[in-house]
Amino acid sequence: MADPAAPSPAPCPICGKPRDQKFRPFCSKRCADVDLNRWLKGVYAVPVTENDDEDGDQAESEPGQDRS
Ligand SMILES: [Zn+2]
Repeated sequence: MADPAAPSPAPCPICGKPRDQKFRPFCSKRCADVDLNRWLKGVYAVPVTENDDEDGDQAESEPGQDRS
């Protein structure tokens, strides 16, 4: 796979630039923040739940009350 003579490190997953040892696996603080933001959004994002409650079995008060 990878040539031992040329490690060719994986590029920054955000922008594709060569990653910086200081900010690996990103190329810069900015890209690290971008990834962090994505991660946080993914964590805090409300999971999409299918609310297909069309049964309507909620006992709503019917208007036809026969109390006189
Ligand atoms: Zn980058």
